This record gives sequence, C-alpha cells and structure tokens, in this order.
Amino acid sequence: MTRSTGARLVVVNGHIKPKKILILGGGTAGWMAANLMIKAWGKHGFDITLIEAPDIGIIGVGEGSTPVLKSFMDAIGLEEKDWMPACNATYKLGIRFDGWSTKPGFPRYFHPFPAQVDAFTAPAFFEASLARRNGLDIEGHPDHFFLNSYMAEQKRSPFASENFPFTTLYGYHFDSGLLGPYLGEVAQQRGVKHIQAKVTGTKVSADGQIEAVMDEDGRTFEADYFIDCTGFRSTLLQEALQVPFVPFADNLFNDSAIVFPTPRPDEVAPQTISTALKSGWAWTIPLTSRIGNGYVYSSAYTTADEAEQELRAFTGVGDSAEVEARHLKMKVGRVAKHWEGNCLAAGLSQGFIEPLEATALVLVQLTVQGFIRALETSNFTTEKRDQFNDDINGRFEAVRNYIVAHYVVNSRTDTDYWRDNANNDKLSRSLHDILSTWTAGKNLTDELIRQKIEDHYPTMSWHCLLAGYGLYPAKERLHTGDVEKHQVKLDEIHEFIRRCSLNYSPHMSLLESQQRTA
Ligand SMILES: Cc1cc2nc3c(=O)[nH]c(=O)nc-3n(C[C@H](O)[C@H](O)[C@H](O)COP(=O)(O)OP(=O)(O)OC[C@H]3O[C@@H](n4cnc5c(N)ncnc54)[C@H](O)[C@@H]3O)c2cc1C
Repeated sequence: MTRSTGARLVVVNGHIKPKKILILGGGTAGWMAANLMIKAWGKHGFDITLIEAPDIGIIGVGEGSTPVLKSFMDAIGLEEKDWMPACNATYKLGIRFDGWSTKPGFPRYFHPFPAQVDAFTAPAFFEASLARRNGLDIEGHPDHFFLNSYMAEQKRSPFASENFPFTTLYGYHFDSGLLGPYLGEVAQQRGVKHIQAKVTGTKVSADGQIEAVMDEDGRTFEADYFIDCTGFRSTLLQEALQVPFVPFADNLFNDSAIVFPTPRPDEVAPQTISTALKSGWAWTIPLTSRIGNGYVYSSAYTTADEAEQELRAFTGVGDSAEVEARHLKMKVGRVAKHWEGNCLAAGLSQGFIEPLEATALVLVQLTVQGFIRALETSNFTTEKRDQFNDDINGRFEAVRNYIVAHYVVNSRTDTDYWRDNANNDKLSRSLHDILSTWTAGKNLTDELIRQKIEDHYPTMSWHCLLAGYGLYPAKERLHTGDVEKHQVKLDEIHEFIRRCSLNYSPHMSLLESQQRTA
C-alpha cells in the first residue's frame, strides 16, 4: 500500500522512505541531535551527517543538568558506568541557592529534584506554607521537607539499599568539553557521518527551503532537513532564513560570564551551589576532576575586570596567575520559530536562558524529540510545525518565568543590580498571577493547574522557590494560633526524612565514585 502525505510520498508499505539529514555544528547540541536521530531513524536507513568547523570550536561551558539528561542517556541506551567516568561526571540532587534572600531565617534554600518519598511530605509543606502565608507562625522553610535537600546537606548519594523500595530523581554534573566528543564517538559508531568543514554559504529556494550548504573549499552538501546547531551564530535559522530573535533582556539582565576551574576537595556534596554576588551569581559545580566555577553577570552593572576580581575573591584564588579566566558573552532570548521551512534549530542557535537552573540541554532534548515526533506523526509534512513551534516557545517562556521569579523575589538591597531586579515590573501575565496567588495566601497548586504549566516546573519547585526566599508576612505580623498541633506533625516529617536518608549510601569520594562507575 502506498499512502500520500500531500507534499511527497514517505510511507510505503509501512516503511518510512529514507531521508537525508544534515546537522551543522558539533557541540553538545549537535551530537545530542545526532544520537536521537540515528536512534529513531537509523533503522529506516536515513543518511545522517554532522558537519563541524574545528577552527570555530564549541562554547565549552555548561556543566549542570536536570534529571531529564538521565532520560536522554536512557533513550539512546548509554550506561552511567560507561559515560560518567569518560566525562568526569558526578551526581546532582539539586541546586542550593546561597545569599539570594536577606529575610531572617532564609539565608539559603535548596531546590531538590523530586524523590518518591516526597509524596508523603510535600502535602505537609504545601499546607504549612499556605498557613504561614495566611499569618500562622509555623515553619515554612522548604529544606526541612524534601528528601534530596536533606541528603545533599548530609552528602548522601541517590542510591538506596535494595530493601528500601523508593527511588529518587537525580541529574549530573559533567565536563562540557568531554560530553560532546563522547556523544560524537557513540553517534559515529552507530552510523552518523562526520565531516570537518567550515560552512560559508547557504542556498535557499524561493519558497524558503534550504537546498544546500557550501563550505570554504567549494563543496556542496544537500539534504532534506537541516539541523542548525551552530551555537550563538545560528548560521542557518537566524542568518540564512532570517528568523527573528526575541531577546529576554527586559527581565533577564545577565549577558556575560566568566569561568575558571579550581582543584576539587576530596569530599563534596552532590549539588550545584549558586551564590548571589554583587551583579549576578556564581556557580560552584563539583566534577570528579575539578570544581567548575563561573560568574554570570550583567555588563550594565559591572565591568569584566571587576567581575573577574569578584569571582577570584569569592573562590579564594586571588590574583594567582595560574588560574586563567575565560570571558564569554551570552545572547539571552529565543527565536520566534524553532522550525522554519526544512530547518530546525537546536541548542544555543535556538536561544538561551541563562544557566541558573541548568535547563539548556533539557530544551535541546525536548526540541529534537518533539521534532522527530512531529515529523513521524505527520508523515514528514509540515502539518505539525506550528503546534511544535508553539510548544517549544511555551517551554522557553515557562523556564524564563521560573528564572525571572528568582530575581524578582530577591530581597538584597546592597547593589543597584539587585534593587533593579526586585523592582522590575516587566513580568509576564503568567508570573504575575503566580506571585499574586502566593502573596494573597491562595492555593498555588490550583493556580499552576489553571495555567496548565505544572509539567514545566512542578508545584514543588514553585513552592520551594517562593518559600525559600522567605516570601511570607513579616515575623511581627505572624500569630501563634494552634501552631503546636502543626509542629508535632512537622517534627514527625523531619524524623521520617532523616530515617529514609539512612537507606541511601554516603556520597562517594572521588575514588569511590570512579570505582562505582568503572
Ligand atoms: C555561561 C554559560 C553556562 C552554561 N551552563 C549550562 C548548564 O549548566 N547546563 C546546561 O544545560 N547548559 C548550560 N549552558 C548552555 C550550554 O553550554 C549549551 O547549551 C551547550 O553547550 C550546547 O551548545 P551548542 O552545541 O548549541 O553550541 P556550541 O558548543 O557553540 O557548538 C557550536 C558548533 O557549531 C559549529 N559551527 C558554527 N558555525 C559553523 C560553520 N559555519 N560551519 C561549521 N560548523 C560551525 C562549531 O564548530 C561547533 O561545533 C551554558 C551556557 C553558557 C554560555
């Protein structure tokens, strides 16, 4: 049987007609796309080629992830024991935010990845935070309610003994200079062709389809689909097809970063630490080989030299000439459409939201998986393209709202940067409604469900963020009411979490972790 798809015939007797895919760019995004596509389409004989220009190179930063990266590794069939040692990777239970709030009792909080046992404790936290928002002087700090928060503090690993049947989600830290090349090796073993060439020209048809790209040696490469993974350059989607870029600068001020490594102490907690500095924030990320440090800041509020001095002082490396800092510019925002004509952008070429919650690779993965699904369920037509673009834009905006929330609820007053962030009223309707629901003492979960955004950031994440900044009535406005009755329940929860955590092994030292993953 032959079926017509309108544009062309692709499914013949249940078989997909092989297509030619050209991925431009060999950073982490390009090789993630290559792996997902060869996994989905290799068996149908698709010709998948990745072209990269070694003299342009990769951005070489981005060391944090969420549990979604585990689902990527699972989807392409890679095992931790193979890829983790090769990429100096460690486990991550969440992110600790230090110094973003000046509210008494809230100097820091932890944004945990969910654990199964949270199902028993989260309702009590939601209830307690609601009661505190409505004036009861009850404990409202999130760190006391979630397993991974407690386990990160206690330096425990995400692996429980066999007789404890509850799992916990976790992400990874990894060396960004190693992950892409590792995925590249895997993709090539599975059939992806790799060409080193610098693309200098693009041939676009009158109806906006890319027909071919040309390299500096005059070679021409044709394909049915072009995947733009060229980083901030966005050579195909933004340059050749002229898809507009939507900047996020009105409520995300950071546009620059500085990075350098420092030696790793033997004992580290399985967490990223994000510490508020004068004009932005610094990450501290433990790998098996080193600590990754970075300062994400706004160039409107400090100079590159001042920022470097600040990061050097913060990390304790001082003026040491042995520590060489890299300075980077960030283009923060998203493209208006991620899929235009026969071109998809994935990675920095489609947009970037600053790395506060380490979400960039999640968006790469969901973009490529969504594209594959949209093509397969439409017989390789453009039928699902608008829906796909709306979906990915929705994801970018949802992540943006969550990141903007960090800045707008900060209570620091030490610099113009923090004051301007707190006073910024350029908020989306969605974020405005979330914040008003919270401060009005109403049910936040209901609001997230009403907005249908719970699958982007779950209710736990929003509660942790807003409670973690101490966004409650001032202490003098709280009353004691029947707080004792509640407190008994909370004490039981703390004890429950403590006991659960004892089932998880201590977080591994460098050597143990290498032995475990070997
Ligand atoms: C400061 C900072 C911190 C970050 N932290 C995180 C984090 O914690 N977690 C996270 O998930 N993400 C993070 N990111 C984002 C992350 O770095 C990127 O999403 C990821 O590295 C993927 O980058 P990429 O592959 O899109 O682009 P790149 O790494 O820039 O790769 C671009 C590729 O395109 C090729 N190329 C470009 N032009 C041409 C051409 N004309 N011809 C041929 N080849 C070409 C280059 O050679 C290169 O191979 C961070 C980003 C920044 C800036």
